[in-house]
Amino acid sequence: MKRDDLHLSTRAIHSERGERRTNRPIAPPIYLSSTFESADYDQQIHLEKTKADTFYTRYGNPTLSLAERSLADLEGAEAAVVFGSGMAAITTTLLAFLKQGDHAVFQREIYGGAYRFAREFLPRYGVEVSWVDVADTVGFERAFRDNTRLAYLETPTNPTLKLLDIEVVTSAAAKRGVLTFIDSTFATPFITKPLQYGIDGVVHSATKYFGGHSDLLGGVLAGSSEVVETVKDSLRVLGAILDPHAAYLLIRGIKTIGVRMEQHNRNGLEISRFLENHPRVRRVFYPHLPSHPQYELARRQMRGGGGVVSFEIEGTLDTAKRFADALTLVRIAPSLGGIESLLSIPCLTSHAMLTPEEREQADISDSLVRIALGIEAAEDLKADIDQALAAST
Ligand SMILES: *Cc1c(COP(=O)(O)O)cnc(C)c1O
Repeated sequence: MKRDDLHLSTRAIHSERGERRTNRPIAPPIYLSSTFESADYDQQIHLEKTKADTFYTRYGNPTLSLAERSLADLEGAEAAVVFGSGMAAITTTLLAFLKQGDHAVFQREIYGGAYRFAREFLPRYGVEVSWVDVADTVGFERAFRDNTRLAYLETPTNPTLKLLDIEVVTSAAAKRGVLTFIDSTFATPFITKPLQYGIDGVVHSATKYFGGHSDLLGGVLAGSSEVVETVKDSLRVLGAILDPHAAYLLIRGIKTIGVRMEQHNRNGLEISRFLENHPRVRRVFYPHLPSHPQYELARRQMRGGGGVVSFEIEGTLDTAKRFADALTLVRIAPSLGGIESLLSIPCLTSHAMLTPEEREQADISDSLVRIALGIEAAEDLKADIDQALAAST
């Protein structure tokens, strides 16, 4: 069978293994070794020079290589590199490409950690940052200058699931020789493959859907061999590597991401429709609802609406808190992408540092609730949400 013809869910199970059939374990081995011996000195020099994954684990490790092969295949990338967390992937990538005197354009609605890094850290190193709203499609082109090195993007955004029209930004960036990086954590390659739109590097928090079981932290960058090698070279110095134990869990998680994403998408659509018809709900944010302001773009750019749905409860912050407390299946916790459904109230957690005016501008009202849906049966989730909405009045 031609490998390129295989479905993504099949590739998620088989691509880490490569084509060759040999007598080897079906479950991959965990190489815990921090270092690797050489047969003789010439071999060691060769291992170091060729950047082998059997030299020293901060430089590479065979278990990490398996995860990287699989992640590159899923994104349709030449190469990938894994990190100890999503933030490690983001900061190492940005530090690898930016230097003093550079200018960078950041989408305004991005993950809080990336936002802080661009606002607090990059200026310390003499990098100037401009901000563009996600919906301001032409704003990126307008923000590019002669010294603009890169644009940093994210879609869909948290918690209101706004979408970036990727192609508009990549075509403007290509004309100016600006590199583009995108955080695709909420989408995964099962929904959007940003490299197809000309993105130079895709980052993910592998803590979320790739890991899938809320039991590891990890990150990944996928892109051309050149982009990945540049970042790997910085990673060897910055040191934010993934632990081989966690890499094993990540490989294991990746194998089931196909069925998990199908169920996340199904739950997302069913629960968001249910919420939209619920009298105690004022407004629902979900990309694949026809009421989403960018529904047409969502259908074009996303093969599924994803597992995150946000909604405004009729009432106040106290109503939202009572709703959260009354849930029995859905747990109160940050994060997303796991098999279990988790709830957060953005104005109290992820967006607490914004002023009330900034929150209003970003559509984050006090009674906005985000549920990162797991893969439970939709009927059970609906029943739990329904009884908690009744109890919240
Ligand atoms: C969680 C998350 C991150 C950060 O990942 P960590 O693994 O927690 O470091 C970055 N981007 C998005 C969109 C996330 O959801």
